[in-house]
Amino acid sequence: MPNDPHTSEVQQPPEVENVTQSRIACDGGEGALGHPRVWLSIDEDTGWVECGYCDKRFVLVRD
Ligand SMILES: [Zn+2]
Repeated sequence: MPNDPHTSEVQQPPEVENVTQSRIACDGGEGALGHPRVWLSIDEDTGWVECGYCDKRFVLVRD
């Protein structure tokens, strides 16, 4: 079984997801981070936005 460092961390760092659209929805996924679905819009100047519920960061990537 491969050693996955993500599962052995006591405190998980905020999750980061790369997205290609500035309008995205976050529901925190399953488990402890789950929350009501919210819509977020990424600021074109900063290029990223953080979910206010689960602190997940969405980074806008351009082709
Ligand atoms: Zn979230």
